[in-house]
Amino acid sequence: MANQILCKNCKTWNSTEAETCSSCGYELHSERIQREEVSLQRAETQKGWDVPVIKIKPSHPWYVRPFLYVARAVQIAALAIGGALAWSAFWASA
Ligand SMILES: [Zn+2]
Repeated sequence: MANQILCKNCKTWNSTEAETCSSCGYELHSERIQREEVSLQRAETQKGWDVPVIKIKPSHPWYVRPFLYVARAVQIAALAIGGALAWSAFWASA
């Protein structure tokens, strides 16, 4: 019985291609999805974006994305100006 996955909820064998259990509807690949999300989050933090900028997701409709890009650009500019001010204030006081 190759390519089968055991439902942790009701112990029914399902095809690995199935997203949810055919018997109870339990998410069969929840652990895999969680692991993928963790590695995705790790990849994002490794890019250096530890500042809370707006996230543009593929789930956003196409007509929303331009506004998000503009909002994010304004946000990054504000953060850069704020950072420069904080930096110069720090050195001015030193
Ligand atoms: Zn099940």
